Amino acid sequence: GSVMTVGELAEAIGVSAVELIKALIRRGVMANINQQIDFETAAKVAADFGVELVERTPEVVHQEKSLAEIVRASAQEPGAVPRPPVVTIMGHVDHGKTKLLDAIRHTNVAEGEAGGITQHIGAYQVEVQGRKITFLDTPGHEAFTAMRARGAQVTDIAVLVVAADDGVMPQTREAVAHARAANVPIIVAINKIDLPTANPARVKQQLAEIGVIVEEYGGDVPVVEVSAKQRLGIEDLLEMILLVADMHELKANPNRPAIGVIIEAKVDQRRGPVATVLVQTGTLKLNDVVVAGATWGRIRAMFDDRGRKVRRAEPSMPVEILGLENVPEAGDYLQVVEDERTAKEIATQRALKRRAEAAEARVVKLDEFHKGLE
Ligand code: GDP
Ligand code: MG
Repeated sequence: GSVMTVGELAEAIGVSAVELIKALIRRGVMANINQQIDFETAAKVAADFGVELVERTPEVVHQEKSLAEIVRASAQEPGAVPRPPVVTIMGHVDHGKTKLLDAIRHTNVAEGEAGGITQHIGAYQVEVQGRKITFLDTPGHEAFTAMRARGAQVTDIAVLVVAADDGVMPQTREAVAHARAANVPIIVAINKIDLPTANPARVKQQLAEIGVIVEEYGGDVPVVEVSAKQRLGIEDLLEMILLVADMHELKANPNRPAIGVIIEAKVDQRRGPVATVLVQTGTLKLNDVVVAGATWGRIRAMFDDRGRKVRRAEPSMPVEILGLENVPEAGDYLQVVEDERTAKEIATQRALKRRAEAAEARVVKLDEFHKGLE
């Protein structure tokens, strides 16, 4: 069935509605901008502009969901090897998430590199005992909700920050709910233990009341006491993350075309669309042709979290990429495909589909609005 209007098709193939309508007239089809056209007509007229539409919409639409499946399955492939854990820091406002991310980031950065660490790409890696850990730099709950929209799961472990002087608060509960819904193991970091008013025992008690039973209470949730401000307990926390990662045997196959998730994206005045990708499986390479949500491109340059140029990115590595035609959305999947033609085609189909969904959502809202008036 057809869901696209002349206007939507024009936008998707990158021509003006007037041009498209003229082309339709040349083909004997009288249509206005809001008119729906069937797939066959759309494909013919798109071909007039050198764009090939292939009717495989259902497949393409479901592709985003099945990419999550491919990522999961790749952990069992014969070529799968251990990969670094991807960690999200969650917790109530002002409990010290940002401070903790800073403290962790500084733990493994040599003095000389201090300039480089100001680079912000939405995620970073640190090295502990010769092993890497990836931290998502975006606020935890945002990361979770954006990712879930496309069925993506990027987080392997959630660090729940609870201020020792403040205890369990509404967003602490919310964070627990998010982690549980995503089936992600939690490590509790009781922060601000440097404060004289710190009361870690009370925090553990309160956590037990919301079903987060820490190890010393007979549960299985590890706890680490830290001070992000004084950088106390940071190494312990990192070691705990590695321990939990080991229990979950995180793996991926680096020897396949890459699939990753967009962590953040924007337009840079100078460089054009810029996106941070967290590679989930396979190895992303310079010059790879990719689809990212409803856009596509060829990887023109890649940078790591310190702004260094890299040529390849293996599983769990975050990289900033250049070369996309447009800005994808956080939570979109990025996928390496054979050639530009395929990339363009999938991206066009997705753009159409998303536009139709957005239009549908607007109609529903309008509907509700009218109901409200009755
Ligand atoms: P976020 O909202 O969770 O990101 O919290 P921030 O990292 O912005 O921290 C909120 C406030 O708590 C800031 O004023 C921090 O300096 C302070 N803070 C964070 N960690 C600690 C800590 O370990 N000890 C103390 N005393 N203050 C801290
Ligand atoms: Mg913050």
